[in-house]
Formats: sequence, structure tokens, C-alpha cells
Amino acid sequence: MRCRPATANAGHPDGAILQPMLTRTECEALDAADPLASSREAFVLPAGRLYLDGNSLGPMPLAARERVQAVLEQEWSQSLIAGWNVHGWMSLPERLGASLAPLVGAAPAEVMVADTTTVNLFKLVAGWMSSPAVQASGRRKVVTELGNFPTDLYVLQGIEQLLGPRVELVAVPREQVLQAVDADTALLVLTHVHYKTAEMYDLAGVTAAAHAAGAAVLWDLSHSVGAVPLALGAARADLAVGCTYKYLNGGPGAPAFVYVREDLQAQLPAVIAGWLGHAAPFAFDDAYVPAAGVGRFRAGTPAILSMTALDGALEVFAGVDLQQVRAKSQAMADLFIALVEERCAAFGLQLITPRNAAARGSHVSFTHPEGYAVMQALIARDVVGDFRAPDAMRFGFTPLHTRFVDVWAAVEHLHAVLANEEWRRPEFQARQAVT
Ligand SMILES: *Cc1c(COP(=O)(O)O)cnc(C)c1O
Repeated sequence: MRCRPATANAGHPDGAILQPMLTRTECEALDAADPLASSREAFVLPAGRLYLDGNSLGPMPLAARERVQAVLEQEWSQSLIAGWNVHGWMSLPERLGASLAPLVGAAPAEVMVADTTTVNLFKLVAGWMSSPAVQASGRRKVVTELGNFPTDLYVLQGIEQLLGPRVELVAVPREQVLQAVDADTALLVLTHVHYKTAEMYDLAGVTAAAHAAGAAVLWDLSHSVGAVPLALGAARADLAVGCTYKYLNGGPGAPAFVYVREDLQAQLPAVIAGWLGHAAPFAFDDAYVPAAGVGRFRAGTPAILSMTALDGALEVFAGVDLQQVRAKSQAMADLFIALVEERCAAFGLQLITPRNAAARGSHVSFTHPEGYAVMQALIARDVVGDFRAPDAMRFGFTPLHTRFVDVWAAVEHLHAVLANEEWRRPEFQARQAVT
């Protein structure tokens, strides 16, 4: 593969100039100079596999395995129920929140780990819409984006049903989101980085615009946290939720997080008013009194084994500079886009991710009419991305464990799959449950 001049794409409609083509040797040189290169050693990565799906399920950090083994062999088995006290299991949700806080630009007491993103969305949106302040304001609208991640839309639809006349859901196309926030809007619910296209909102700008209209904002950070530096506090963002099994590598089904800005915590009711969100759970009172801080959004007993895996996974981020992560992610995705468009131009792929690196998260999606089968054929070659209906192939760029040479090799495999029409093989047509 040969270089082409950077100006070759100057006439592109988006006005972007793609980075010049690189050879494999040049990619190896980029890896040799990469300040994040050694972080790859923190993960267990199956030999020979090009894993470009860390945006969907991060690989296993060695520290996650070690921590879980220690809890199994030294804590649960030996301490039994005393573990809740002697090993600090009960405070693990808050301690994990404090470890996660710098990754979202929040104060330690504003973040807590619990349940799933889906459940946490319900807690915060239903809580906000039933809060005394929103009730007094008379505002009823919750605005969101059509094409948002399905669970976000479904939870909002469920809350509209549950709270009846007090909530009206307004779901509009992306371009109309800010216009839809009006004097009757209580809450804007957006996903910061779109799961399919990787389009990224200006978190601070959108938050400020919603605030100017008197509305609060809830950000779903599932596809951002661990990949994009975030500054919830500086933006005065109100509420947020997000996943820990994607870029944070917390393990399959790892518990999610909630963020509630400190000054809002006391006025937000815990709609899932569980015993462990009570101010004094072990008083066993009949009447519910919420815990003072973000702890009220804890519902039931924390999943210690899953949280332990996340605890180990977050160790990997301890000393990592997120600006370096972001810069490498942008460089890898730029390289991928340029190589795919050069090598695979003849095969009907369509880029649906912003070409402008500043306007996207950390994955790149191309559509293809046979996208599912093409991805299956790639996976058969040990190049793992994923597929999102109806036709998007997603490739995630995870700077802590992906190398430039992996990006280069993945495009060579994609070219081979398309040029040889390997995707036509019948075994690549049958849909599996998880795509
Ligand atoms: C992955 C993802 C979720 C996942 O929610 P779960 O409750 O963990 O299944 C939610 N929202 C967005 C935007 C996501 O990308």
C-alpha cells in the first residue's frame, strides 16, 4: 500500500483533509513511538485476534482477574458475611464512584456505581420528573433524539406511561433537538456519543443552551467514558449515567454509574427507594428516609463480584492521560477511514461517522448492504467488530490495547473479504442473537 498526498481529499464535501496513507512499516513506527503502548500489557488478549470491539465489550484486564480471584479465595470464602464490614464491600459502590469521577470530570461524591444503565436512567429521569422543583415549575416535557439508543427511548416511553399527564415525551430528529427545548421542557436526555454513527455532541454547549431555556440535561455517557475526556462539573451538567463494560473494561454486564450534580442530590427523590439507599439501612425502620448524598440512588445489595472486576479494571486508568487516549483514538480512526476509502472504494461502503475527528467518539461505522455477512466473514478471519441493524458495521478504536498496525491489518482483511466476496458464504448469512 502506498502513500497518497494529504491534499488528495481537499475537495471532499466536508472540507476535511485525510491523513496520508501509511504502510505497515510506518504503522509499526507509530506503535514504537506510542506513549500508551505499554498499557496493552495490562490486558489478556487472545493471540492473533484483532479486537476492534472494545467499544462494546472491553477485554479483560489482568487486574480485574486478580481482584476477583482475591475476593473469591480470600474474602468471600474466608470471611463470609463479615466481608461486608472487614473488606469494605458495603462502601464499594461509592469507592468505585470516586475512582470513576475523574474520568467524567466530576467530584468524588457526585458519582456512584449501581445496577445497569437502563435502571439508572429510570431512577434519574423518573426522580427528576417527580421532584418538587419540576412539579412546581409546571414543565412537563422530556426531550430526546429519535434514533437514540433503544433502551433510552424505551425507558422514557415507560416513564411517560407511568407518570401520565405529568410527563410528555418529545422525540425529534437530531437537528431539531435544541429547538425542541422550550419553556415547557423539564429535561433533555441525550447520548453524548451516538452508538451507531459515533456523532458526538458538544456537551458543554448543549448543556448551556438547555440551561438557558430553563431545562436540565441528562447525558448518557455509555459510548464516551474511558474514550473521550469529559468535564461534567465544568459544564454544570445536571445528571448522567453510563456503562462500565465498554471502554472501561469492567466485564460483561458490569454495573453502571450515576452522576448527580452535588447541589441537586438533596432535591431528587429516589424513586426506587430501596433499603440500602436509606439514611440508616440497619435501623430497619418502617419509614423510608433517603440517604443524604448520591447514596440514595443505590437500591439493593451491591453486586460485589462484578464491582470487584470493575475495581480492577479501573486500576488500568489510574495514571493514564485521557488526552493521550483521545489523540491516539482520533489518529487510529483517521487512519482507518483513509485506508478503507483507499483500499475498499469499489465495494459500496458508506461512511456514516463524522470525518471530522473532533465531532465523533471512538468508533467508526461504515454501512454496506450486506454488512452483517461482511462482519461475520471478518470475524471468521479473527478481525472482530460488530454490526448494528439495518446495515452498519462498527469498528471500535481503544487506545489502551489497539495498535496502529492492527488498524492497518484489519483493513487488509476487510479488503480481502470484499474483493473475494467471502461474505457470500452461507454460514455468514445466518443471524445470531447478539450481533
Ligand atoms: C450500551 C448502552 C446502554 C446499555 O444499557 P444496559 O442497561 O447496560 O444494557 C445504554 N445506553 C447507551 C447509549 C449505550 O450505548
